[in-house]
Amino acid sequence: IPQLDMGQIRSDFPILDQIVNGKPLVYFDNAATTQKPRQVIEALAGYYERTNANIHRGIHHLAEKATAEFEASRRRIQNFINARLPEEVIFTYGTTDGINLVAQSYGRTFLQEGDEIIISTMEHHSNIVPWQMLCEEKGCVLRIIPINDAGELLMDEYEKMLSEKTKFVSVVHVSNALGTINPVAEIIKKAHEVGAKVLIDGAQATSHIDIDVQALDCDFYAFSLHKLYGPTGMGVLYGKEAILNAMPPYRGGGEMIKEVTFEKTTYNELPYKFEAGTPNIADVVAAKTAINYVENLGKEAIADYEHHLLRYATEALSSIEGLKIVGTAKEKVSVISFLMDGIHHQDIGVLLDQQGIAIRTGHHCTQPLMHRFGIPGTSRASFAVYNTTEEIDHLVAGLLKVKKMLG
Ligand code: PMP
Repeated sequence: IPQLDMGQIRSDFPILDQIVNGKPLVYFDNAATTQKPRQVIEALAGYYERTNANIHRGIHHLAEKATAEFEASRRRIQNFINARLPEEVIFTYGTTDGINLVAQSYGRTFLQEGDEIIISTMEHHSNIVPWQMLCEEKGCVLRIIPINDAGELLMDEYEKMLSEKTKFVSVVHVSNALGTINPVAEIIKKAHEVGAKVLIDGAQATSHIDIDVQALDCDFYAFSLHKLYGPTGMGVLYGKEAILNAMPPYRGGGEMIKEVTFEKTTYNELPYKFEAGTPNIADVVAAKTAINYVENLGKEAIADYEHHLLRYATEALSSIEGLKIVGTAKEKVSVISFLMDGIHHQDIGVLLDQQGIAIRTGHHCTQPLMHRFGIPGTSRASFAVYNTTEEIDHLVAGLLKVKKMLG
């Protein structure tokens, strides 16, 4: 068992220490959002108590302090994903916002009728709908990489799809519904061979996997801090400098301009060109505390520990008769989607909640993926660094109770 101080980690997350429906809370909905350590909560409160001011324009003490903290977060995140430049880190409102930025700004400018955009069967709706909107407007064609029954991409089929018509590939790094880790480095390399640009949806990857955007050589990488022990309402779009420079602004307003007249407006430089309006300053400032927290524990130690939980839970859940795991890829993070014979996922969710256990049920914003498996939805337990095998034992006992009541 990997060495992490679980007592300390548990006590870092104040929300975990509470009774829900008469039972100690077991929080297994981490793929939806992770809980926040006390350090992040204190960074948020501390910002509002001692620093709050609008950034970049002010010359007074607080404005300068707020600006410095905001820009320190940019450099911290640059370092976290190993971007070449801080200007390649664009603050967004989350993964969804980052993908829409690319589809709207890059897509509307550089894609044309008949161009092909490749996504995969296991995309979250936020990596499907923005591309469909673009296709509708520009007459591009959306192509879908199929998967096998284990929930792995069929790479042969992907390679067959690639041609000089392929202009963009947008693929999820880690599936939120199945836990599958996709071979994104290979996907990116193959796309580049035909001259296509690539976006990676990293929403589920950043808390589990070390991210090096230069090693991956992706053109864009989008993620959300709320899935990385950080605040809600903020995320990051990484993009290669030259590509971002070639793209027009996505939203117009303050901050993103150089000079405005009624005749003509010139735009600010990176990254501000893409950060119109007052950003989510407090959450951006606190984001670096979340990243410090993760890196202090060590990404490798976190991944090892989560794998231990995944193995333990896979074995324990598989021992329940009539329970079937959906998503059995060889490369997986700590997400388990499952079905139980004759029991609707919604009933499982409600009955577990009565026992203080929080899981996710439904289609997980991946309806086409559910169609692929011929199911309306699943129950999903997803584990974070603060979860324990004892909690998994509670889940198993809870599921046995559900089975007794409804099976
Ligand atoms: N992609 C994946 C794989 C996700 O899991 C999520 C969040 N569930 C998103 C994109 C969207 O992230 P957000 O809601 O933070 O914009």
